Amino acid sequence: SDHLLEYPISPSHMDWHKLYPALVPPKEDASTELAKEVEILDVGCGFGGLLVSLATEFPDKLILGMEIRVQVCHYVEDRIIALRQQHANEGKYNNIAVLRANAMKFLPNFFGKGQLTKMFFCFPDPHFKVRKHKARIVTSTLASEYAYLLRPGGIIYTITDVLDLHQWMVRHLESHPLFRRLSKEWEDEDPCVKIMRKETEEGKKVERNNGDKWVACFVRVDDPE
Ligand code: SAM
Repeated sequence: SDHLLEYPISPSHMDWHKLYPALVPPKEDASTELAKEVEILDVGCGFGGLLVSLATEFPDKLILGMEIRVQVCHYVEDRIIALRQQHANEGKYNNIAVLRANAMKFLPNFFGKGQLTKMFFCFPDPHFKVRKHKARIVTSTLASEYAYLLRPGGIIYTITDVLDLHQWMVRHLESHPLFRRLSKEWEDEDPCVKIMRKETEEGKKVERNNGDKWVACFVRVDDPE
């Protein structure tokens, strides 16, 4: 449970070298100040399909998956290590990593204000029962936290096969003063929307069952004057 989760007391206390050894110098190294920072976050990354696709779409960015289930996390770790080994000559997949965390609790311990440019919420757990709705990963309170972490112009991506959850996420993010929903035309042009429709394990399952996929994307608008 949560009391077993490890998290840094502030973003500057996090040792990212462990997760991105080829791209981030060790913390004790003086050049750490210049190191790259995580910019893209996959919340509840599951088995890592999105991460693996994003790795080659954004080779210059550090991408992190957060996942609460220990075994699933280990699976993704092994998957990434294997990919790094297979592609060692090209230096691919050094830019993706997975971290066991409860994304509803400690995000500001890991990331600073405006650090992120993209956050993905792909097929989040629906928590169907009304009394469980507060456990949903998008709520008004969490939307404010996401707005803090995303820089203006940054994007929240959501996709689900559950219409009620889609409507819930749209309602909570649209009514937030720091988010504006992006158009269907924007979605059609964006490469990440294509990836999240096709490359997540959950998305593939929905595809096999001929289910619907509901997409909604939101831009983090500028802070008010
Ligand atoms: N995004 C993946 C996909 O599309 O294939 C996985 C979707 S799966 C239905 C939802 C995932 O979110 C599960 O792997 C679950 O363990 C994870 N999860 C749920 N709540 C979480 C939380 N608070 N923090 C991190 N991960 C969470």
